[in-house]
Amino acid sequence: MKPSPSDHEDPVRATGVVVAPPAGRLADLAERIAACRLCADRFAATATAHAPRPVLRLSPQASVLVAGQAPGMRVHRSGLPFDDPSGERLRSWMGIDRAAFYDPRRIAIVPMAFCFPGYDARKADLPPPPLCARSWRAPLMAALRGIRLTLLVGGHAQRWHLGRRAGSVTETVRAWRDFAPDIIPLPHPSWRNTAWIRRNPWFEAELLPHLRRRVAEELARAVSMASSAEEDGTT
Ligand code: SF4
Repeated sequence: MKPSPSDHEDPVRATGVVVAPPAGRLADLAERIAACRLCADRFAATATAHAPRPVLRLSPQASVLVAGQAPGMRVHRSGLPFDDPSGERLRSWMGIDRAAFYDPRRIAIVPMAFCFPGYDARKADLPPPPLCARSWRAPLMAALRGIRLTLLVGGHAQRWHLGRRAGSVTETVRAWRDFAPDIIPLPHPSWRNTAWIRRNPWFEAELLPHLRRRVAEELARAVSMASSAEEDGTT
């Protein structure tokens, strides 16, 4: 699915694979991802028998990367990433509203798998198929050249981006200072982690203020650079 001009005019409403201009090489990659059907047979064999629907948001200018896990069923239907209670909690952790979160010129949203993986026997989401990261992630990360802050949401993203530096989610998130200032590991914002958040009060008391400060810094910097470019006539 190619992004339409209206996608760029109203990024909050836009769905599916969204690329903010000027995208260049990234647009070509996004077009191939939008057409990807590598997991079609795998998804067809799940209880929901759904077709692939990649959901991600990209821009060469984005300075913040949200590296999540995979879309859930609600996001599969809406085409808008984190358009669910987990997204509400993540935005509250980041200290930003929907307009800022869904502006692909500022924030790239790139999960470890771009499509809903289906449910397991207990109706929990299946893990992201590793084939997706193997096929797409390295070239995509290379093309996202403006990223200055990466939020690693959950163990799958932490293992891919940190490699041997990643431990369990608790160990990795607890060691957040080791990855500052460019990377911030987070637990998944799902309600399933509410008990984890209660058991680890340092997360809200120490890590979240750091997260909000870093997100605010990067978004303010992006606004200032956009204003300078406008004044220079380079946009
Ligand atoms: S999850 Fe990734 S690899 Fe699988 S069909 Fe979707 S875009 Fe392709």
